[in-house]
Amino acid sequence: MRHKKLIWHIFPASLLTIAVSIVAITWYATTTIHDFFLDHVEADLTARAGLIRSRVGVLLGDTPELRSFCVQVGRESVTRITVISKDGSVLADSNERPESMENHLKRPEIARAFAGEKGQSLRFSKTLNESMLYVAVPVQRDGGADPAAIQAVLRMAVPVTSIDRALSGIQMRIAFGSVLVILVSALVVLVISRNISQPLEKMKKNAEAFARGDFSQRMQGHQSGSASLEVVSLASSMDRMAEMLNEKIRTIETDRKQLDTVFSSMVEAVIAVDVEERIISINAAAARLLGIDHRQAPGKLLQALVRHIELQVQIGRVLTTGESVEKEIVFREQNGEKLLQVRIVTLYDGKARKVGALVVINDVTKLRRLETIRRDFVANVSHELRTPITSIRGYVETLLDGAIDNREDAIKFLQTVQRQSDRLNAIIDDLLALSRIEQESSVGDILLQEGPLRMALESAVQTCQIEAGRVGVGLVVDCPEDILVTMNHTLLEQAIVNLLVNAVKYSRKDDLVTVSARLTGDKGDGRKVTITVRDTGCGIAAEHLPRLFERFYRSDKARSRAVGGTGLGLAIVKHIVQAHGGKIDVRSQEGVGSEFTITLEGRAAD
Ligand code: ADP
Repeated sequence: MRHKKLIWHIFPASLLTIAVSIVAITWYATTTIHDFFLDHVEADLTARAGLIRSRVGVLLGDTPELRSFCVQVGRESVTRITVISKDGSVLADSNERPESMENHLKRPEIARAFAGEKGQSLRFSKTLNESMLYVAVPVQRDGGADPAAIQAVLRMAVPVTSIDRALSGIQMRIAFGSVLVILVSALVVLVISRNISQPLEKMKKNAEAFARGDFSQRMQGHQSGSASLEVVSLASSMDRMAEMLNEKIRTIETDRKQLDTVFSSMVEAVIAVDVEERIISINAAAARLLGIDHRQAPGKLLQALVRHIELQVQIGRVLTTGESVEKEIVFREQNGEKLLQVRIVTLYDGKARKVGALVVINDVTKLRRLETIRRDFVANVSHELRTPITSIRGYVETLLDGAIDNREDAIKFLQTVQRQSDRLNAIIDDLLALSRIEQESSVGDILLQEGPLRMALESAVQTCQIEAGRVGVGLVVDCPEDILVTMNHTLLEQAIVNLLVNAVKYSRKDDLVTVSARLTGDKGDGRKVTITVRDTGCGIAAEHLPRLFERFYRSDKARSRAVGGTGLGLAIVKHIVQAHGGKIDVRSQEGVGSEFTITLEGRAAD
């Protein structure tokens, strides 16, 4: 349905009402005036008839006298006077010759008068060719009221055309006035309608601005002085409503922004799903953890994006039972496994209706691995320290028990005690070195200076030369002179020494150990230096490689102990490399050899 403007509701209806009222009033007025005139003229005619009735009664026997009386009185009173005899023939008439007039007995006013009453009639006279008002009264010779004594009827008549003419003049004036009144009232109605509709029009525009979220304008200020009290108070109510709305929207927006910030910057992965397990929202951490695009995820089924039976089962359980769940689940992906701690709770809306579930996931893979490492480390430290101590105590007790008297045995035992205490010393030295590096690097206390790499490599080789020579392993340095590295010379040398010592330890006689360095990457800031220590020794089985740099981790316990290893060498290397902001990798094949590569920032000398 098409709605009309307010002005088109008010204007035509008011105009029509005014026009109809004016027409009705005009019609009523003219009819009343017309009737009034007729009544007046009729009363006048009756009075005139009353005046001459007795005279006519007297003259009834004398027709010529009666005729001249009628003509004279008719002329003087501008009235047509007719006297009709009992048989209906006209005895006298002021305007016509009675002989030429037809029988009048059938005329209604005459018939009535002969019945003894006053008769009147308004009709068109063919004789005079105009509308006439007739009043007829009975005439008795004695002036009595007995119908049987009626001898004739006296009829007075005047033309009413003049009344009609006067009336139509009045009607013309009233019509002219009406048109004027209608025009003026149309103007007034138009102004009133506009006064009502214009403020509403303005309010509509303002309300549309509110709907668009533009609360900068106020309705009340826009209302002109002619606006009605209702409109002004409506405008002020709408203004108050807009202010409250604006305030509420701003609060909601601020809250939402804060929530969004909290949500997206949370370390925990958070996913909200509805009762059909469609994603309502997901934060960046969750998308990263599960490997999905968090902008496209909302609205999609969670299981379509993340295929994990256990996760689905748990979400399903929370959605049906309403009880929260906390569980660690293993999440397999291309590059390994992740251990995820999953907490699922039911989501309720403001009316406490269940609307879905909230899944909070923590990646505890690293944490669990660290816990294992720490546990292993504590166990390992005590074990590593206890072994030489037990051994020393055993030999010392044996000596005290009397073995000291056998010089040969005593020397052998004391040498073992010496070896074990050296080992104890080595372990403690390494542990101390490790914790020192760890502590210094964590507080940024390690002094780094740019210097030639080759010098560091050569002095490391020199340190290992005697031991290498003793077991018949060759050491080779392959490093361009111009490579500069920002390093702590002592620490880096220590790391290379550790790698070389291992390489020598796990090599066979006549093997060759190479320490080489190369500049890689583009010229400029992004250049890297790789230092590789390569041997052709026994190699390391693949399963040991991920944990090789952990403290006390040994791929081959017996052999390590036999060659006097502490199991801390590679852990120290790793920490030194980390303190330099670099990384270390290992590639090895059992029976073929090993290759340890350190990558650091570096550049070529100018
Ligand atoms: P260790 O003092 O026992 O050598 P490390 O931390 O230096 O301790 O090394 C850890 C383990 O890694 C060693 O026990 C050894 O089994 C293995 N390993 C290290 N370097 C080599 C290598 N070059 N060849 C073979 N195995 C190696």
